[in-house]
Formats: sequence, C-alpha cells, structure tokens
Amino acid sequence: NLSSDLTSTINERLNNLTASKIRAFDQKVSEISGIIKLTIGEPDLATPDHIKDAAIRDIQANDSHYAPQAGKPELLEAISNYLDCSIGVHYDPKSEICVTVGATGALNDVFMTLLNPGDKILVPTPVWALYFQLIKMTGAIPIQVDTKKDDFILTAEHLRHVLNGRGKGAKAIILTDPSNPTGRVYSATALKALADVIKEYKIFSVTDEIYAELVYGKAKHHSLSEYIPDRNILISGLSKAYAMTGSRLGYIAAPKQIMKSIRKINSFLVTSVTDNVQIAAVEALNNGQNDPKKAREIYEARLNFMQSGLEKLGFEMATPQGAFYIFAKIPEKYGTNDEQFAFELAQKAKVGVTPGRYFGKGGEGYGRLSYASSTEQLKESLARISNF
Ligand code: PLP
Repeated sequence: NLSSDLTSTINERLNNLTASKIRAFDQKVSEISGIIKLTIGEPDLATPDHIKDAAIRDIQANDSHYAPQAGKPELLEAISNYLDCSIGVHYDPKSEICVTVGATGALNDVFMTLLNPGDKILVPTPVWALYFQLIKMTGAIPIQVDTKKDDFILTAEHLRHVLNGRGKGAKAIILTDPSNPTGRVYSATALKALADVIKEYKIFSVTDEIYAELVYGKAKHHSLSEYIPDRNILISGLSKAYAMTGSRLGYIAAPKQIMKSIRKINSFLVTSVTDNVQIAAVEALNNGQNDPKKAREIYEARLNFMQSGLEKLGFEMATPQGAFYIFAKIPEKYGTNDEQFAFELAQKAKVGVTPGRYFGKGGEGYGRLSYASSTEQLKESLARISNF
C-alpha cells in the first residue's frame, strides 16, 4: 500500500477530474447477463488483411527501432497525398504533419501546444467527453456551446454571439466533424460561414476529423482547412475508417510555424510512434482506398436499418449523416432523465445505450447508440427496444 502521507499528493488537476462516465456506465451495464451493448465507438469489423500483412512483414524485417520523431517519411508523404486528394489542401510532409499515438495523442499534443492554465477553448456540445478531461489537464477552461437548438450544428451567428460574450478572448475552438455523439456533418456552406467568423478573431480552430471517411447519403466531408488553412489544426487518424483502433495511429496537419511546437511536444510525450504500425498505415493509405468504402457501405446499411426502425417506434433523432452513432431523443412519456432511462433500458430490455448528458450540454434527454455492432445484434436490440 502507498504510504498514507503520499495518498493525496499527486497532480491536483488529475485529482479533480473524474474518470470517464461513458466507460463507467459501460462497465456497469456489462455486468447484466445477455446485454447487447451499443455503448462504445469500437468498429466490429477487423483490420483488413493487407494492412495486417504489411505490419507482420515489417516486424519480421526487424523494423523495431526508434522511428523519426514526427513520423516515418513514407507515412508523412502518404498522409500528405491523402489530404491532397480528400480535401484538396496541401500539407508539406517535411514540415506540416506529425504522426501521433491515435487521434487521442494528437488531441493531447495540440491542447498542450496551445493552452496555458486559465485559457478558454470553445467546445460545441454534445461532444466526445474526453475533450473536457484533456483540456482540464492543461489547466485551461472548456467553454461549452450547446448546439441542440440548431440540430446540433454550430452556426456562424451562434459562434459570433459566444465569441463576443462568455467566450470572449478564447484561444481556440475545437470542432468534431463528423460528430460523435450526434452523427451530424457540417456542410461546405456551414463551414465557410464559421471560417468567416473565426478569421475575424485571434483564435485557432482545431478540427477532429477522425470520422471523415464515414459519411453517408448525400453528405460530403469538408474541412475548415479548406477555408482557413492558416489557422486550422487538423486532427485525424486510421482508427475508425480502417478498424484500427488498437493500432493507435493518428496524425496532425497544421501550418509549419505551429507544427514545430506540436512536433516538439509529441517527441517529449512519446518519442515516436511504433514502427510496424506506421508501415501498416502507409499500406492503408496508399493501397487501401477501398477499405473505408466497404466499411461505409456496411455502416450505412446498418444506419438505415436502425434509423427507420427507431423512427417507427416514435424516436426522434439528430439527423445522422456520419460516424457510427445515432443520437436519439427519449420519448416524452419516459421523462427527460436519460441516465435513468438508459439504466432501465439496460436492465429491462438488455440493451446498452449511453446517456446523452455524458456528452455535455444539450445531451440531456437523449441517448447515443453506436451501430458499429453486427447486423444481427442490431436487429436483436431493435426487437428488444420495441418490446420494452
Ligand atoms: N475523436 C473522436 C471524436 C472520437 O470519437 C474518438 C474515439 O471514439 C477519438 C477521437 C479517438 O480516436 P483514437 O482511437 O484514434 O485515439
């Protein structure tokens, strides 16, 4: 046991942060026997074989030493090409990209680069809740901007209003597009309007585009980097589109002057990213263009199935266009306590959905369900919700 005089002496910022409620809820409902969990954003698909083979070949070739700190040159090149093709923005592989340990590592690098204690950063909500913890670890203050009234899209007017009010002096804004938990996708027009406001202020934008490849129907992914490349810091990675969550491969693209500092922090925190994982990522980006397409087809069919099933049962939801989540409003007759509803649904119907309030302001009265589960499980959970 730790000596009693040391038990409360750790980093006080950490002491003041609670562990993820999403994980805690997931663990709690995991104890219910026979439960189908639609709680975690984890693809049920496997990493494609050609990507796994590239990693295996690399391990066998003894590529197991320190990689260059910002990433292997061939991966930096592959990321640069990918961004050229997907959003039409050129990032110099030599000075404007950094390979990170997942998108989470990228977020840490960026927050640590930008934020001093007491700084404000705008966080449109509902949002993936880890942002709050990472921001608070730097001593900065997340300013929640509830987007519920605009179908969970931050409008230019709303942004301006906040920047002139309680968000005055904010150093940055982080935008998740496509969104976890709402599945909403920003249109080119909406992004351009936001960009026009952002550039009027002395503020960085950070975009988390980890779900960029998972966009459905008529929606199309765009990036703030298309409009304000001189102040946007783009974060993405391979976790979701290539079912590579366990590989921990992410990246950041940004103007070289800020990238210099980002690369510095990344090297302090992790030295470099695992060799064979980087080589697997080169294979994914250079030869795996069809992989996200296949994943997209599977997820889109599941989305259509779940959306129409839930709508038939009377659920309303944020219009889902991307990622693999549905953010559904709990029918009024069940009240507005989403936490209570989610526990009841878990216990009685044996279906796990995450309470909306865990994602910040605007999430109360909603539940998030992930359709990155097998089609059989989704069919069964819809039947159970229907019975319930
Ligand atoms: N950003 C968002 C919006 C996410 O939903 C997630 C995972 O759920 C991540 C980042 C983390 O990505 P990674 O696994 O690459 O760290």
